[in-house]
Amino acid sequence: MNILIVGSGGREHALAWKINQSPLVDEVWSAPGNPGMHEIGPCFDVSPTDQDAVEKLVLQLEPDLIVVGPEQPLAEGLADRLRARGFDVFGPSAAAAQIEASKGFSKDLMAKYDIPTARYKRVTDVAAAKAFLDTLSAPYVLKADGLAAGKGVVIAETREEADAEVEDMLSGKYGDASKELVIEEFMTGEEASVFALTDGENVVLLPAAQDHKRVGEGDTGPNTGGMGAYAPAPVVTSELMDDVRERIVLPTLKGLVSENAKFQGVLYVGLMMTPEGPKVVEYNCRFGDPECQVLMMGLEGDIVPLLLACATGGMSQRDFDQLQPEGGFKPAATVVLATNGYPGSYAKGSVIEGIVTANQLKDVMVFHAGTDVLEDGSLVAIGGRVLNVTATGTTLDAAFAQAYSGVNAIEWPEGFCRTDIGWRVRKS
Ligand code: AMP
Repeated sequence: MNILIVGSGGREHALAWKINQSPLVDEVWSAPGNPGMHEIGPCFDVSPTDQDAVEKLVLQLEPDLIVVGPEQPLAEGLADRLRARGFDVFGPSAAAAQIEASKGFSKDLMAKYDIPTARYKRVTDVAAAKAFLDTLSAPYVLKADGLAAGKGVVIAETREEADAEVEDMLSGKYGDASKELVIEEFMTGEEASVFALTDGENVVLLPAAQDHKRVGEGDTGPNTGGMGAYAPAPVVTSELMDDVRERIVLPTLKGLVSENAKFQGVLYVGLMMTPEGPKVVEYNCRFGDPECQVLMMGLEGDIVPLLLACATGGMSQRDFDQLQPEGGFKPAATVVLATNGYPGSYAKGSVIEGIVTANQLKDVMVFHAGTDVLEDGSLVAIGGRVLNVTATGTTLDAAFAQAYSGVNAIEWPEGFCRTDIGWRVRKS
């Protein structure tokens, strides 16, 4: 098989790396890919959101499977368009991707199908927003309805802050994405994410992961795209995982089928482990980044038959269950290296060395995100989040230690990382 990966981040590099290990696979192609993906197979300079260009490339290459990494092209209907051309695509239709692209859609779905989540209201004007805020107590959760590159959620500590934020958001703080808001009750508990690989009806759940969104040590400071992650997350015990499957994942997928929005791909369920049990914080219609990096590295066995079955659909649950990759899951962790200044402004073009040395360490793999290669062959940083140093171990502690050994092998004075990834579960 030849497989095309659409995207260029650490998530897509990890997918390409894992897929490339499958005995079923001849070539892994990427569009547009990154310097790390280039070492795996050819990269084609096509933007994931340029649907005409992606379709043209797919018609030329005729891949046996297309895996779409990021949410934007899925929300805009890339999977529908490629399926209409007869290709097998791992990634949901635009209708199913609404589960991420519209917070209002996802909340209404949860309400209709009785899926545990925070009480909420969809609003488009300030008066309605304030009336609902009157029924809540601080802190207040305000969410832009549409895709806002992970930035559209505000937790307001006071009512004054909430009122001011509602006015800013409704008057276009996040453009069209915040013309409608979802206002929610605040939930307390530890967060975790569960990933359901699905053809719309059958499901294989991957181990739960936890990420670190804040830039600073001890989970402080501004939010980022993610500074590190690990799996399995012990907070989601096997009993809780069963509960999540029965009360959240399966009803969500059934609900989507009933709404004519069957979901084929990976459903990411962001959870709050509240005192009343797991509740949904959000859904995503694709793998998390950097959670994908730990899942791909930790997973033993071949993932390709499962990805293909999700894309083609029509299997019995029994046959689908057989596709669970063999050998289980090794504890895995990833540490994100970011350019100094991120998530604020940062310089581009600093030179990074030592990746080859890091990759030679046992059970370490450095996935690229914001990197580029200059004509003289040097590797430079061109983004905020730049590298994901990922490792496995016999325990989570061993995985963290090995990931930080990888970090230490990299020479990049203009970059930084958090030194406390996994602090909740670290024993040493
Ligand atoms: P979301 O993009 O919906 O996942 O929200 C981003 C982050 O905001 C989540 O990871 C949570 O930390 C926080 N958050 C979102 N909704 C709630 C809620 N109802 N209660 C508490 N925290 C929340």
